[in-house]
Amino acid sequence: MSLAEITARVRAAEQAAGRAEGSVTLIAVSKVQPLDRVEAVLQAGHRIFGENYVQEAAGKWPDLRARFGAVAVHMIGPLQTNKAKVAVDLFDAIHTVDRPSLAEKLARLVQERGRCPELFVQVNTGEEPQKAGVMPGDVDAFLATCAAMDLPIQGLMCIPPEGEDSTPHFAALAGMAARNGLSGLSMGMSGDFETAIAAGATHIRVGSAIFGARSYAV
Ligand SMILES: *Cc1c(COP(=O)(O)O)cnc(C)c1O
Repeated sequence: MSLAEITARVRAAEQAAGRAEGSVTLIAVSKVQPLDRVEAVLQAGHRIFGENYVQEAAGKWPDLRARFGAVAVHMIGPLQTNKAKVAVDLFDAIHTVDRPSLAEKLARLVQERGRCPELFVQVNTGEEPQKAGVMPGDVDAFLATCAAMDLPIQGLMCIPPEGEDSTPHFAALAGMAARNGLSGLSMGMSGDFETAIAAGATHIRVGSAIFGARSYAV
């Protein structure tokens, strides 16, 4: 697979869903990928990337931004509260706001730094005990908590359970966003981004289909 092929599939899925061309933001998930693969995608002109680890992103993107110009980097992995400050300065978006203590810290930092990444609340749509994210039944209250802190939330994000059909999870997330007046929907990965686009995704997070399989041994 290549960036061009994935972009073509995104455009086709937008069209099939009757959605405007370019209404879906393709986040190329570059976590743990060798630098030459990331550079190739930058050279192909792509400028929106996703990372899971603050430390890895902080070691990689300042230099790549200096060489390639403005690049939007989205944090899509779990965020520890003690890394929130680095994250607010480094990332253009954070997709994993998932608990009041993190929301509180982000609200304080946003005031202090005068800079606010786009923020998404992660929802544990499958209610999996080992997975991060606000439980579906707690989403409305959590969003109200964020609003009370003046923390602007653009949308919701989910990672459906592995090996399950993503369709009902995407539909549930879209319903939660709609009833809370949120326009952003971060959902869909290499295996299901077309399904996500049909369900209204505004941001898809695609890694291995663009870069090839990840090797965690690096
Ligand atoms: C790694 C990761 C992705 C990309 O997964 P692929 O299956 O390689 O496309 C998307 N979202 C999150 C949250 C991830 O951690």
